[in-house]
Amino acid sequence: MQKDLISIIIPCFNEEEMVPLFYEKIFEIMEGTAIVDFELLFINDGSSDQTLSILRELATTDSRVHYFSFSRNFGKEAAIYAGLQHAEGDYVAVMDVDLQDPPELLPSMYRTLKTEDYDCVGTKRVNREGEPRIRSFFAKYFYKLINRISDTDIVDGARDYRLMTRKMVDAVLEMTEYNRFSKGIFSWVGFETKYLEYSNVERHAGKTSWSFWGLFKYSLDGIVAFSEVPLAIASFIGFITFVIAILLALFFAIRTLIFGNETSGWTSLMVMILGMGGLQLLCLGIVGKYIGQTFLETKKRPVYILKETDEDWKQ
Ligand code: UDP
Ligand code: MG
Repeated sequence: MQKDLISIIIPCFNEEEMVPLFYEKIFEIMEGTAIVDFELLFINDGSSDQTLSILRELATTDSRVHYFSFSRNFGKEAAIYAGLQHAEGDYVAVMDVDLQDPPELLPSMYRTLKTEDYDCVGTKRVNREGEPRIRSFFAKYFYKLINRISDTDIVDGARDYRLMTRKMVDAVLEMTEYNRFSKGIFSWVGFETKYLEYSNVERHAGKTSWSFWGLFKYSLDGIVAFSEVPLAIASFIGFITFVIAILLALFFAIRTLIFGNETSGWTSLMVMILGMGGLQLLCLGIVGKYIGQTFLETKKRPVYILKETDEDWKQ
């Protein structure tokens, strides 16, 4: 019987230290499970260090290694998309290069897909040890918020590390949007996902490329991509202030009829002007965020641009 092929997609951004360590580890594990064939698809996401030359070398010594190198940094989401487009496997895995996603889990993930009725095995961290406190705090509330306002279920602590069947990969590829929020996309396409749990593993070498501000922007994009509730909230705020304005107008009219009009009330006037101005800007900002995303989508720019792949190198 022909063996299944597992494609493993590995986004890399300035990971010269990690690539050789990762390769060694995954090689050891995949060679151990002789029941499947595998291919490694490294995506070089515009690294400025030696990552690309290390990948070139690996690809020449091992024909199972492929790499796709971007013309600049397009972000991890773009890297995952590029990997999915080029993966040929019957099963496709997405995995970080920093060994924070334990490769040991892969054989059992494969077994689960083979024997049980699932289309995808995901992973989720049960704790966030080793991560800055403040980051965990905001992460927790981000998941609470997005799950409350989005119909798409975004699993708290779920990593991008997952193994999918070909069917699911094809479904994900059908989603060609420019603003790619994988956590939402993987959930939106449906299919049965089983989550394996493990405790947080710290990065083996190198450093995380996420800044706090970067994560904040990423979570806002995630919300905009998978929820329209902020727009509803903006209209709701508008409606409520309108009602309050009418009630106030009635109140002042009646008060003037009863007590006459003395020209006071400068303070309340200023408070109202400032308050209304603030609310208008807030709502405009929310609407603007959606228009901005629409703007980006309508341009239909490519999600990434390839500069070099192992195919070019081998010729
Ligand atoms: N990564 C990438 N492009 C980027 C940032 C990160 O391809 O712009 C890759 C990175 O090389 C790693 C994975 O995405 O393989 C996860 O990155 P990181 O460890 O920095 O994120 P964290 O684990 O802290 O969430
Ligand atoms: Mg990491």
